Amino acid sequence: MIRLSLVVASLLSAPAALAQEAPAAAQVVAVEPLTPNVKRLRVRMPKNYRFEAGQFALLSVPSAFVEAWNAKYKTELGAVRRPYSFASSPKRLPVAEFIIQLAAPPPGRDVPPGIASTYIHGELKPGGTIEIGQPLGSLNKAGDSATRPLILVAGGTGVAPFVGLLDHWFRTKQHKGRKIYLFFGARQRRDLMLDAQFRRWAAKHSNFTYVPALSDPAPDDNWTGPTGFVNVVLDKHFTGTLDADVLIAGSPRMMQETVKVVKAKGVPEGQIRHDPIKVAP
Ligand SMILES: Cc1cc2nc3c(=O)[nH]c(=O)nc-3n(C[C@H](O)[C@H](O)[C@H](O)COP(=O)(O)OP(=O)(O)OC[C@H]3O[C@@H](n4cnc5c(N)ncnc54)[C@H](O)[C@@H]3O)c2cc1C
Repeated sequence: MIRLSLVVASLLSAPAALAQEAPAAAQVVAVEPLTPNVKRLRVRMPKNYRFEAGQFALLSVPSAFVEAWNAKYKTELGAVRRPYSFASSPKRLPVAEFIIQLAAPPPGRDVPPGIASTYIHGELKPGGTIEIGQPLGSLNKAGDSATRPLILVAGGTGVAPFVGLLDHWFRTKQHKGRKIYLFFGARQRRDLMLDAQFRRWAAKHSNFTYVPALSDPAPDDNWTGPTGFVNVVLDKHFTGTLDADVLIAGSPRMMQETVKVVKAKGVPEGQIRHDPIKVAP
């Protein structure tokens, strides 16, 4: 048990190495709402920019915005860059998309909202630019088995890299011989971003199963699907032992609990992947 905790802790806390190359200036094409607090950012990347499905990159906040923020909130922030996952297939380059949640202050705390998400939600407009670093992360390495099921487990905007991976796999007909599951946890129905898109994919691709789960459905959601945290829903879905490649993205807590669930079902550590929870600036 102690060993398991140590392994999980080290897995979840390793900071990703940062790419050294200069960031690329991407042109903003659209910033559109997906839920009350999540927006999709669509950009046009420079011609030579390449990434692999499921990767993430650091988006920079302009220094003038950071200076104004420091003056407004009496903070002392230096350069601000935050990791966001590509939520589109590289086959769509030069267009790339991101799914970004506005980070509100924690309940009951008199602190500023999140700076990068505030900038992206409030300041970025079509025609503007944003600097995007080189691609990082290896969620795209989905295992080399031709038959093992692929299980994607997402909480909230953790679904972003999976939108990119699924978009890519379906476009390129990758993993056609494997069962693919998306377990997507959100609080209420309105938070299930891209629900219609996932349902369309599930109707079109017989190897794809979509399992949305709500942890706190609103009465007028009329929700008849699974309820509870997504790791619990996943646990109940697969009885017995499980041999699968599992990709996880969401809050640190959700990732930790999901790792526990799949390990308890016998999934070897080498078949479980997720991004680091922190990326050193
Ligand atoms: C690999 C990776 C991929 C990611 N991909 C995505 C993605 O695709 N989409 C997405 O939405 N997010 C993603 N994230 C999270 C994202 O990188 C940011 O962490 C998130 O958007 C918040 O950044 P921010 O600058 O808006 O907030 P920050 O300024 O970093 O603030 C974070 C929180 O701290 C609070 N806060 C501010 N000051 C204080 C204080 N003094 N005391 C206590 N709390 C304070 C803020 O209100 C806010 O809630 C990813 C993270 C990682 C590690």
